[in-house]
Amino acid sequence: MEAKIKAFMDEVISRNGHEPEFIQAVQEVAETVIPYIAKHEIYNGKNILLRMVEPERLISFRVAWVDDNGDIHVNRGYRIQMNSAIGPYKGGLRFHPSVNASILKFLAFEQVFKNSLTTLPMGGGKGGSDFDPKGKSDDEVMRFCHAFMTELCRHIGPNTDVPAGDIGVGAREIGFLFGMYKKIRNEFTGVLTGKGLSWGGSKIRPEATGYGTVYFAQNMLKTRGEDIKDKDVVISGSGNVAQFAAEKVLQLGGKVLTLSDSGGYIYDADGIDEEKLAYVMDLKNNKRGRISEYVDKYPKATFHKGGSPWEVKCHIALPCATQNELDGNDAKALLENGCVCVAEGANMPSTPEAIHAFHEAKILFAPGKASNAGGVATSGLEMSQNSLRISWTREEVDERLKGIMKDIHDSCTAFGTEEDGYCNYVKGANIAGFVKVADAMLAQGV
Ligand code: GLU
Repeated sequence: MEAKIKAFMDEVISRNGHEPEFIQAVQEVAETVIPYIAKHEIYNGKNILLRMVEPERLISFRVAWVDDNGDIHVNRGYRIQMNSAIGPYKGGLRFHPSVNASILKFLAFEQVFKNSLTTLPMGGGKGGSDFDPKGKSDDEVMRFCHAFMTELCRHIGPNTDVPAGDIGVGAREIGFLFGMYKKIRNEFTGVLTGKGLSWGGSKIRPEATGYGTVYFAQNMLKTRGEDIKDKDVVISGSGNVAQFAAEKVLQLGGKVLTLSDSGGYIYDADGIDEEKLAYVMDLKNNKRGRISEYVDKYPKATFHKGGSPWEVKCHIALPCATQNELDGNDAKALLENGCVCVAEGANMPSTPEAIHAFHEAKILFAPGKASNAGGVATSGLEMSQNSLRISWTREEVDERLKGIMKDIHDSCTAFGTEEDGYCNYVKGANIAGFVKVADAMLAQGV
């Protein structure tokens, strides 16, 4: 089996050698899915995984835009249409200086499995740009989004490819992107998700990734007779996912000790309560400030420049910032401090070494493609509401979200439970996600 996995990875590396994040994501899937394929005649000998690794279409384009001083800038835009076997391409747009083909291919690849797990008919895609919204005026962001959509609009559509937000793309950006799509195409459709509530957005969509991550953690804890109540929870990030993960933890009676951004993390031993969280939301979403400012407002808390929150003692850790933010040493620190449950709110935040350590220690560990799937699942619900031209209540959407997170959890345990009873959620998510897409690909032919 080792040799089979190695031969497959050699082939992937020879085709994508300069793309480390993509190779990391494929390796994790290969290690769990190749042994499954070997045991199941229908998938054997069809090169099905190699087909899934190659994007169906990779679009790259120039985005030129003018800043407030009249200077012209050039960024690179991308859309990766990874797999459409089970539905239109679906996945976010990321605007961040680190964006390149490797990062977007890893995200698009993860998205295929994640979207399959949601039980909804969505294929996988991802896109974005190396544009940095940080420090830009609203007008500059608008001009960039308009320039970006001027090209992207010819590649997407409500039945073709439906982008949404990701890091650096929130309600403001989705609004500007939608405005330009509508202007060029002269049609009002659900071509993007994460829209504003008055123009086709779904209730609970902003909350969904963070809430879903906590619902997933709840489902995992339940298998061991535990829950969130009175637990110390460490969260990284302070953007959309982290904010609503924190909100849900508080609603369920847990204590949130940390939040972070690229400058470092804040630790509040008294707990970040509802009022303090409202301050963070205003600071981050409206003032576009730094998390370090939290300690000016709440001086009992401490700011740890450049650090990551994994050194703080906790029961539950929710990495909600970005890829590879939690390494093998961080995992060791968490385990030494008694952490029993890790649910990823971000995409691939734990390194392979960290995941290995969690599995060795047999703690509850959920990979992002399972635990953060609530965001895209609610995007799927937004698409359904747009097609039906109706709008569901908050309660209705939240109930569906809870149901989907439970279904994803149960798919993971169905495919991931090992002989000793320990559930390897990575294996479970990869195989469950794979089976649905592979069956559709086989049915549709080469
Ligand atoms: N960017 C989110 C994710 O990583 C959401 C994608 C979507 O809603 O299409 O799943």
